[in-house]
Amino acid sequence: MKITEHLKASKKTLFSIEILPPLKGKSIQSIYDSIDPLMEFKPAFVDVTYHREEYIYKKREGGYLEKVSIRKRPGTVGICAAIMNKYDVEAVPHIICGGFTKEETENALIDLQFLGIDNVLALRGDSIKTEPQFVPEPGGHAYAYDLVKQITGMNTGKYLDEEMKDASPTNFCIGIAGYPEKHFEAPNMYSDMKWLKAKVDAGADYIVTQMFYDNKKYFEFVDACRKNDIHVPIIPGLKILSGLKQMTALPKVFHIDLPQDLYVELEKCKDDKQVKEVGIQWCIQQSKELIKAGAPCLHYYTMGASEATKRVAKEVF
Ligand code: FAD
Repeated sequence: MKITEHLKASKKTLFSIEILPPLKGKSIQSIYDSIDPLMEFKPAFVDVTYHREEYIYKKREGGYLEKVSIRKRPGTVGICAAIMNKYDVEAVPHIICGGFTKEETENALIDLQFLGIDNVLALRGDSIKTEPQFVPEPGGHAYAYDLVKQITGMNTGKYLDEEMKDASPTNFCIGIAGYPEKHFEAPNMYSDMKWLKAKVDAGADYIVTQMFYDNKKYFEFVDACRKNDIHVPIIPGLKILSGLKQMTALPKVFHIDLPQDLYVELEKCKDDKQVKEVGIQWCIQQSKELIKAGAPCLHYYTMGASEATKRVAKEVF
């Protein structure tokens, strides 16, 4: 079932989670261990992130350096299939432009269709560590907009081989990313909003936001979207703070602000345990306000921290 159908069918705010594939070499059991405690809250869907290849240099005999490709967290598609099978819940794989040619994207989407996966979150992906800015794969997409267009094309039976006749159309529901505090590369909100609208006009069905800690930013973002004729559901993304380092790491990595009230509370914390407590209480308060305001679904970036998510969910769902 499509995410948009789940949203339409529910009168209440839904609950959803996002997980990361385990590190290469680790068992899938860690995924089940992080989902099990949250199943009692009936997640409408579980997103599984995608992690592209990185390159590292390995020192070889004679001192020369060999460029080696590694993928630290493979398995997105397999995990989605396993989750759907085990829990009978919608799994949403993240599909990115980075590292994929259009042909590889097409083949990946065909795999998903055959597995019965109806939903995808279409993203550009970030640059890899060895590149200062995002570089598309030769023959790949430069922006999520182009990826959305490819998927909507396949939804109408349009594959890359234009001579293909009677191709079976796919039927994907397409989610995209939105940034209440602006994507870090966008020169201003106006331009970011313009490209967000382009993704929606190209056929995206719903938006999931980057995490934010100030609900006002989400409310303003939703208002701005509506004023710009973007009328798809906008699902807020929430992440529970869990450690002292995140006070500087989250603004740096995700280009978001921590509101002053939250920061003042965090400043009083002496260790990660205390930060986690503040994080849980803050997230409960954010969640309650978002539900009251009629958010369609609350999407929790669990990052394996299911106990904290469980405490929040217990208070609000
Ligand atoms: P785009 O929509 O392509 O936008 C990128 C930038 O280009 C923006 O500044 C935009 O304003 C601008 N822009 C867009 N279209 C055009 C155009 N046609 N011409 C000129 N400028 C344009 N990353 C991963 O690697 N794996 C994941 O699983 C993953 N999951 C995510 C989930 C969510 C909910 C979010 C919010 C982010 C996720 N990311 C993930 C990170 C994401 O890949 C990065 O934020 C990336 O930098 C941008 O992706 P996007 O899809 O928003 O890009």
